[in-house]
Amino acid sequence: MSAIKTILLVVIMMTAVVGHSLADLKVVTTISDLARIAEAVGGDDAQVSTLCPGPRDPHFLPAKPSLARKLAKADLLCYNGLELEIGWLPLLLNKARNPRIKPGSEGDMDCSGAIKTILDIPDGNVDRAMGDIHALGNPHYTLNPENAVLIAKEMAYRMGQLDPENKAAYKDRATVFAGEVASRLPGWYEQLSEARTKSIILYHSHWNYFTHWQHLKVVGEIENRPGITPSPRHVQSVIEKGRDLDGVMIVAAQWDHQDVAEDVAERIGTSLAVLPGYSGAQKGTDNYFDFIDRLCTRMAEAATAASKE
Ligand SMILES: [Zn+2]
Repeated sequence: MSAIKTILLVVIMMTAVVGHSLADLKVVTTISDLARIAEAVGGDDAQVSTLCPGPRDPHFLPAKPSLARKLAKADLLCYNGLELEIGWLPLLLNKARNPRIKPGSEGDMDCSGAIKTILDIPDGNVDRAMGDIHALGNPHYTLNPENAVLIAKEMAYRMGQLDPENKAAYKDRATVFAGEVASRLPGWYEQLSEARTKSIILYHSHWNYFTHWQHLKVVGEIENRPGITPSPRHVQSVIEKGRDLDGVMIVAAQWDHQDVAEDVAERIGTSLAVLPGYSGAQKGTDNYFDFIDRLCTRMAEAATAASKE
């Protein structure tokens, strides 16, 4: 190879390397649903990674050094907020010492700020010392796809602030995401028409945004206070309530106490639907749309099963 060719090749390679690092906005999300939305908005202009993998319960995540290293490189941190990550994110941020994403900086995005209606805001005293984990209201808002659209729009705005060159591309992708959600909403709603005639008992109030969006009837929760192991007396009262109703479905996430949920279902005489808590929590739900599809399909199946019991 001639000297000129070698120099040209080196220049091309260097441009590629430098170009890549400049073009990619490094986005770190706390939960997988936010990662899927960030990927849809960021496209080729962002590198997205998540701290809590889909199959893990994000209320409780060990603050491992590898996660702090991810945060140390981030340009934008998108977190759920409403204290979902309170047990581990502050610790990790402390370890990461990254001024770009520190609270109040341009790279600090609390996604709950984009949500118009927060459910289950406690009206009385909340005792955090007792382990109450929804002290600021229910944090599981990504289970309503209409909220995912609000988050996508806000992410596009924030990504555009940090990377003005690609501002229009972020905005366009958020619009495409919103269009995809809008086109699927009627089908998702239609799928649960039978489920709307049933009563639902939840293990944890994880599903409230989903049931609220779908107008499903929740008649009880196995956990009497979010995050706290239910007392036998409360479990008994839920079972008695369930026995008095026709067509009851029990719904739990795969990280809930399955033995308790199964016992309640058995004693009521109905079946238990174990659903993925977030995108990627079960096989075949990596994509946000596949995740919502799975929730609708499994709830619809559970409703049909409840009719037969
Ligand atoms: Zn929760």
